[in-house]
Amino acid sequence: MQKARKLMVLLTMFLLLASSLFASFAEENVCCSRLNAPYWHRDANCHFAETDWMTSDILGDETRRIDVSRAESEGQKPCPGCATEFAPSFTGEFPDWPHTLAPWGYEKGDMIEDDDWPRGAVELPADVLKTWGAPDEKLYELFPDAGDFEEGGKSVYPDDYAGLFINACGGCTILLVDPSIERVAEWRDMLQGEFWVLSARYSYNELKTLAKAVSDRILTADSERRAQGEPSYYHIVSVSVSQIANAVEIGVLPDGFDEGVRRIREALDDAGYSDPCMLRFKPANYPSWL
Ligand SMILES: [Zn+2]
Repeated sequence: MQKARKLMVLLTMFLLLASSLFASFAEENVCCSRLNAPYWHRDANCHFAETDWMTSDILGDETRRIDVSRAESEGQKPCPGCATEFAPSFTGEFPDWPHTLAPWGYEKGDMIEDDDWPRGAVELPADVLKTWGAPDEKLYELFPDAGDFEEGGKSVYPDDYAGLFINACGGCTILLVDPSIERVAEWRDMLQGEFWVLSARYSYNELKTLAKAVSDRILTADSERRAQGEPSYYHIVSVSVSQIANAVEIGVLPDGFDEGVRRIREALDDAGYSDPCMLRFKPANYPSWL
């Protein structure tokens, strides 16, 4: 009898352990995702890259809890603010930041209308920012026309460079593919300043190559059709590299949006570009020339 009870206790403990292990394993594969957002999150309160710069409105829809694999099949990558192995890091000493906003993010916080242009109300004072140098200017000085895929820029960014933007604290955030402490130190030497680093999946050069392929094969084909008075096939109006979304953004007309997206995906599949996380489709406004 005693033995049977012991066995029961052991069995119960085993089952509890197994179910908690299973639960944590299952939890690993579940993420927070919002429709049409570029990234999936671990932190349900994180809205990295989901804010409209001009209004500070959060653009994301309701949070869904779905499998990571499903989020990835819908074109979402791990959020560099809350879901990548490399956590956001600053190259220097970062001062106190008594705000709920992440300083490395694109979000601008409460906007203040100053002169004609809205600015973020949470930027650090100019004398703090000044000590960080100007990594963005240095980058453009080193690689003057690398970002210009339509004009056929001749210089090329280093292969781990994925993008740069001015962040919520008023400094620079630089996205790097597979960043390491050593590599970040090399970048700091090269740009002679302080900045935030986030992890990215695709390099700017990869995104630029894809954007050029979209421009050459798809945008040009539609422009030629329109020039000859024929109807648009892809319903495409624009293509650009979004550094913050780490993707190529394609503007498609609202009329025929789904059909356009399907045809563009097919054409890119045929050209060997089938990774859904590299692309973002956006309903575009009608351009003046239509
Ligand atoms: Zn996040």
